[in-house]
Amino acid sequence: MSARTRVESFSRRLDSGTVDSVRSASVSKTTARSRVLPDVFANHELAQQEAASRKAYVLDHLRELLIQLESNCIENGIHVHWALDAKEANAIIIELCMKAKPKDGLIVKAKSMATEEIHLNTHLEEAGFKPIETDLGEFVAQIDHDLPSHIVTPIIHKNRRQIAASFERNQLGDYTEVPEELAMQAREHLRSKFRDAEIGISGVNFAIAETGAIVLVENEGNNRLSTTSPRVHIALMGIEKVLPEMQDLSLFLPLLSSSATGQRFTTYTHFIRTPRRGDERDGPDEVHLILLDNNRTSVLNGPYRDILKCIRCGACLNVCPVYRQSSGHAYDHVYSGPLGAVLAPALEGLEKMGDLSKASTLCGACEEVCPVKIPIPAMLLKLRSECNEKGLSKERIPWKGFSWIATHPGIWKAGLTFLPMAKIAPHSSRKDWEEYHDLPKKQGKDFRRWWNDR
Ligand code: SF4
Repeated sequence: MSARTRVESFSRRLDSGTVDSVRSASVSKTTARSRVLPDVFANHELAQQEAASRKAYVLDHLRELLIQLESNCIENGIHVHWALDAKEANAIIIELCMKAKPKDGLIVKAKSMATEEIHLNTHLEEAGFKPIETDLGEFVAQIDHDLPSHIVTPIIHKNRRQIAASFERNQLGDYTEVPEELAMQAREHLRSKFRDAEIGISGVNFAIAETGAIVLVENEGNNRLSTTSPRVHIALMGIEKVLPEMQDLSLFLPLLSSSATGQRFTTYTHFIRTPRRGDERDGPDEVHLILLDNNRTSVLNGPYRDILKCIRCGACLNVCPVYRQSSGHAYDHVYSGPLGAVLAPALEGLEKMGDLSKASTLCGACEEVCPVKIPIPAMLLKLRSECNEKGLSKERIPWKGFSWIATHPGIWKAGLTFLPMAKIAPHSSRKDWEEYHDLPKKQGKDFRRWWNDR
């Protein structure tokens, strides 16, 4: 099934409650973003241009910046590991966990798209560990055996009644739909995990080459607890997340928070530069930074290079009419929405994910809201044409047939005469199509007759 059909079919199967949850959360975040931008930036357009050019600099100097980051991290006492792909990254993390021998295999995890990308939880569980998601949304997804459907708000597809039912099912407390009470139930459940876990795993929002600092932003405080309470902290970072200087954060931190959640600033911003030093009361004894390539260097040298500028704010998802209707699960990839429609095929190949480029109306809203001005619609068009050139598009032959018929008036006219008979065509040939579409009823005269009668 092609990705567009996949997205269409999925959205048709979604119950109206899920569609409402996704749509209302996306709309409210988009509204909050528009409201806050004039307060945060005197000239938002200029900030976007500056961020795009800073990110272009990063991509042009990625190798030097990563070497500088590595050297400063090592000097600060952070262990640096390089992972060529998901397999290597999982192997490094599992080896570190084996060495740390956490009691009962318990590991606390803060939200991280990079760990989703390498399916870390599955690998940890297979190796006998118990990773516990501590971000509230990720936690709900985990106890529900569900998958995140948004890169910033993982359970955007759920409403509070579903969350309440899930908490009750998992014996976290009595049924309640009061958000504060639900948060308290999760908090009580997770508090002992933070206390007992000896390993904390996080992602990285930015890493500063100049100082060797890891920067994490969040609203819930679970990142701080996951990275300070356990004695080992493992941070996984896509190599494109490096920034040259601390000064860059004055642009990227407000851009990220305003674009992602419509906040001037996120509640917490963490700068992790060293493991715990002698006179410090908390913090891990060991900090490990894993630099993940996983095909990013190939993307860097190809036509979709600009997608590596992405700071994972999710604004393009929130504004996308296809995402709003279908939710993230329809994309069948950890990266969904317009970002995923480019990044998934760029990272995993056109053969596997190329058709995702068709899950777009090309309205251009994604590029407009993108804080780093990634030309997503142009890249989607390029992906579509590359799929066509490589013969990967399943719609190529039907469209060729259509174009031949449409350019031969006699055949077209005969086709119109026989079109109503499509309804009596053998069912098997229409089955797939009709599963997701309703054949429209013919209404009024056809165009030719109307034209001739004028
Ligand atoms: S592509 Fe742009 S708008 Fe979309 S998540 Fe990335 S930075 Fe945000």
